[in-house]
Amino acid sequence: MVRGSRARGGRFVTPAEAGPPPLPEGQEWVVPAGRPDDRVAVFVVPEDAPPLVREGFARRRVQTLEGECPCGGHQHWPDADPTEGMLGRVVAHHFDDCPAGDAVLIPALLRWRGEQGSNSDAD
Ligand SMILES: [Zn+2]
Repeated sequence: MVRGSRARGGRFVTPAEAGPPPLPEGQEWVVPAGRPDDRVAVFVVPEDAPPLVREGFARRRVQTLEGECPCGGHQHWPDADPTEGMLGRVVAHHFDDCPAGDAVLIPALLRWRGEQGSNSDAD
């Protein structure tokens, strides 16, 4: 029986020979586990973020680089390779209350953003 697995989030993948396009600040391309010809965009772990946000981004990075999140969740690749020069979507699964899952990470990000907003208002 599959325990509490949900398809959450996703990452874009592109064939390496196409050359990955530039990413917004705070993201970078990495070589995913077992797929040396692909590149996946991940977020850089923000050093100034609260521990839950840092843990969530760190787990997403681990899942991409090693193929499995510490919660046991795997990532699922599209059946077909993306057309050259196009981006494909990789779906990441996380179990229960994993900090990398959207159900935990997105609210944590919103709280952090709210705190940043209230801090800048006080300046
Ligand atoms: Zn996880």
